[in-house]
Amino acid sequence: MRAITVLPGVANSARLDDVPEPPLSDGTVLVRTVALGVCGTDREIISGGYGYAPPGQQRLILGHESLGHVEVAPAESGLAPGDLVVGIVRRPDPVPCPACAAGEWDMCRNGRYTERGIKERHGYGVERFRIEPEFAIKIDPSLGILGVLLEPTSILAKAWDHTQRIGRRAQGWEPKTLLVTGAGPVGLLAALMGVQRGLDVHVLDRNKAGPKVELVRALGATYHYDPSDVEELKPDVLMECTGAPPVIRDCLGATAPAGIICLAGVTEPGSKFEIDIGSLNRTLVLDNDVVFGSVNANRRHYQMAADALARADKDWLARMITRRVPLERWSEALERRPGDIKVIIDFQ
Ligand SMILES: [Zn+2]
Repeated sequence: MRAITVLPGVANSARLDDVPEPPLSDGTVLVRTVALGVCGTDREIISGGYGYAPPGQQRLILGHESLGHVEVAPAESGLAPGDLVVGIVRRPDPVPCPACAAGEWDMCRNGRYTERGIKERHGYGVERFRIEPEFAIKIDPSLGILGVLLEPTSILAKAWDHTQRIGRRAQGWEPKTLLVTGAGPVGLLAALMGVQRGLDVHVLDRNKAGPKVELVRALGATYHYDPSDVEELKPDVLMECTGAPPVIRDCLGATAPAGIICLAGVTEPGSKFEIDIGSLNRTLVLDNDVVFGSVNANRRHYQMAADALARADKDWLARMITRRVPLERWSEALERRPGDIKVIIDFQ
């Protein structure tokens, strides 16, 4: 069967390969892939910048934003043939650390977790994969192809979960305003979940027009392309989804008192700025502000994400998927083209 594989650490080594059927040791549930979403992590792996093959193997099957139909599942798994499922990406570390032992592998403390399609486990960019029932999330069949958005949505479900947990440190903290920086898939899903929580949502991105602008407005949120427009906004929650160092610098200290900044974008090291640490520290201390980072998601977050997608407007979600590429032309999905938001590879 066909799979997209890569030699981790070697740039432009990705290819469409013929691989054996998945081993039973991957899990008792056999899934036939419907679609695969691609993201910046996949591009980073293909460029040789990240990724690890399974122990004893050279190539890694790529892909972590999955969607498939169950073909075979044991009766006790709670899954049945035909169910639409998405695979969880991370697996707990083998020790396990206290977080992984409690099912919060997204908070792994020793870094020895593994991830499908990224770190020491084959991914979902293959025509059939196997998975453990407890790492498969059944989704509402009415979502259809939109279920491929579940994994990126789970990242935001975690970001929101932790934002709200932090917020509860203060009595009666009830956020009213959200600023999201970046209107890519992550930023748009952050904005969607902010609207679902009843917040006044603002999104800052560079584009002056185009599908991202329209999607923000269709949510009932306010779109800004000029950073000076949001200088006085003072949001209660700020979700930084660009990973762009100058944007991150401008976010620090920009919230209302007791504000929470969630950093959700990953950056390359090497960007240096002069920052008035005295002034920034003064603001953070006197305002009880929090800046925290958030990555990955555990099973509870995938369930929260499945609920969020089930409640969302399906036409709006469909507009996020701006390009669909057949498996034979998989490499086109990894190109960045104007107007792209979420690009997916069709396996059927
Ligand atoms: Zn761990």
